[in-house]
Formats: sequence, C-alpha cells, structure tokens
Amino acid sequence: MAYNTENIFAKILRGEAPAFKVYEDDYSLAFMDVMPQVEGHTLVIPKDPTENLHDADPIILGHTIATVQRVSAAVKQAFDSPGIMIAQLNGAPAGQTVFHLHFHILPRADGLDIGMHARNMADFAVLETHAQRVREALA
Ligand code: 5GP
Repeated sequence: MAYNTENIFAKILRGEAPAFKVYEDDYSLAFMDVMPQVEGHTLVIPKDPTENLHDADPIILGHTIATVQRVSAAVKQAFDSPGIMIAQLNGAPAGQTVFHLHFHILPRADGLDIGMHARNMADFAVLETHAQRVREALA
C-alpha cells in the first residue's frame, strides 16, 4: 500500500494537527498518545514518511529506535515505572490503526492493567501535565 500523506501522524508532523510533544530531533518526534492505554503512554515516530517497520530505511529506523530508548528512559523516570513495554504493530490484521510507523512506550507495573487499544480519549489538560513530566525527565 502506498503511504497515505493524510494520516494523522503525517498531519502532526506538518503541524496541521496538535500533539503533546515531548521530544523532537532531525529524524524523529515523540508525543503523548491521545487515547492512552496507561498513564504515560507515549509514541515515537520517524519524520520520514514510512508506513510500517518493513518499509523503513534501516538508517532512519536506527535513529528512531535511539529515540525510543531515550524517551523510554524518560517515561520510566517520569512515571516511576518499574517496567516499560514497547509495542509496534504492522498492518491492520496486527492492530495497526495509524499507517505511519510508530513505537508505543507503555509504563507497566505489577497489578497495573493496560486499557483497550485506541479507545478512550484522555483529558487534554492531564495529557499536557504528563508531557511536561516527560520533558522534565529528558532535560
Ligand atoms: P496503532 O493502532 O496504529 O498501533 O496505534 C495508533 C495509536 O495512535 C493509538 O494508540 C491511538 O490511540 C493513537 N492516536 C490515534 N489518533 C491520534 C491522534 O490524533 N493523536 C495522538 N497523539 N495519538 C493518536
């Protein structure tokens, strides 16, 4: 399938849709998931128009994974999380709903269940406070 430039993450990258950003460099962007499955649910995307893992330029992928590592450590610190789950879905049958490559960073702890995927919209004021916590951990 050809990359669809109208997907929501492409719009966020172009500044046409809002996002609670936590980190940005020449290759990648990280922002809060607007329908978090758990407090602190953060997404990392390459800036390159890439639909999924298999389409990714390995160099771009390397930069993106380096950002995942960096932001994941910040999320872990910001949410005092003993565990972090990284998730990445390829293709609708695997559950992918936004067709721009992205990595989910999900804080985990014993007894802390994660919510349904892409189901409940978060309060934007709360999301901004969460983004601020991650930004401070990255600083
Ligand atoms: P996927 O299902 O493709 O692995 O994940 C897409 C993710 O994007 C979901 O977790 C969903 O909550 C999130 N999402 C969908 N629309 C938006 C949006 O407009 N802004 C942000 N920040 N996240 C979104």
